[in-house]
Amino acid sequence: MSSLVVSDVVVTFGGKRALDGVGLAAPLGQVTGLIGPNGAGKSTLFDVICGLRKPDAGRVALNGRDVTRTGPAARARHGMARTFQRLELFGRLTVRENLMVAAELGPERRHAAALVETILARLGLAGIADQSADALSTGTGRLVEVGRALATRPKYLLLDEPAAGLDGTETLVFAGLLRALAAEGTAIVLVEHDMSLVMRVCNPINVLDFGAVLCTGSPDEVRTDPRVRAAYLGALDDSDATPSGAASTSDFATVGGTPPNV
Ligand code: ADP
Ligand code: MG
Repeated sequence: MSSLVVSDVVVTFGGKRALDGVGLAAPLGQVTGLIGPNGAGKSTLFDVICGLRKPDAGRVALNGRDVTRTGPAARARHGMARTFQRLELFGRLTVRENLMVAAELGPERRHAAALVETILARLGLAGIADQSADALSTGTGRLVEVGRALATRPKYLLLDEPAAGLDGTETLVFAGLLRALAAEGTAIVLVEHDMSLVMRVCNPINVLDFGAVLCTGSPDEVRTDPRVRAAYLGALDDSDATPSGAASTSDFATVGGTPPNV
C-alpha cells in the first residue's frame, strides 16, 4: 500500500507555476526517486510534503490521512523528517549535539543518548562526534543532517541531495544505508543528481520537469524513456534552450552504459 501520497499539487510563485498538478506515491519499504533538472520543482515539492509551504491546490496524505492543512510539527509527529539541499545544521553545536536536539524531540526522547550513539555508529560519524558542525566538509555535513533526521525515528524520510559532496566509496556505503533503512519499513523519497546512485537504489523513480511529472517508472523504464532523455539532454542540441543546471551527459553515461546519442 502506498503510504505517502501526493496528488494534484499546485504551487505558484508570483504568477509562475513552480508545481503544476504534481502527484507521486512513496510506498513504505522502498526508496522512491525524485529527479529532474535544477528548477524543476523538487525542493518545492519537499516543502509542500513536509508542511513548510501550503500548496495552492492538491493534497498530501500519510497512510490515508489527509495532512494537507497541518504544519511541519504535526507532520513530524506523524513520522516525517527531511534534510535540506542547503545545509541547515546548528553550526556551533557538535555533531553529537545536533543529533541530540532532534532525538530529544522525537518519540524515543527517553532513550535519546543511546539512540544517538547507535546512529552515529551506523553513519560512520562516531569518530567525529565531538567536532563542531561548522568545521565539517559538505559531504560529512549532509550525513550529519541525515543522522539528525534519523534521530526522530522517521517513517517518511525526505532526502534533498544527500550525497552531494560524498566521494565514490562514501556514496556506495550511503546506498547500502538507504536500502537498509527502506528494508526496515521507512518510506524514503530521494532527490539526487547522482544518477548511478538513483538507479541503484530507487524504485519507482519520478521525473519532474518544469513543475510536472514527466514519467514515473522503474529504473529501466526511466532510463530508456525518450521524454526523460530529451529533458536532460535535449538542451545539448540547442544551447539557447538549456534549462539551468540540467544534468550533464556524464550523469547519463554512468547510467545507461552507452553515451547518449545527441
Ligand atoms: P529544484 O529543487 O528542482 O531545483 P526548486 O523547487 O528549488 O527546484 O524551484 C522550482 C522553481 O520555483 C524554480 O523556478 C525556482 O526559481 C522557483 N522558486 C523556488 N522557491 C522559490 C521562492 N521561494 N520564491 C520564488 N520562486 C521560487
Ligand atoms: Mg532543489
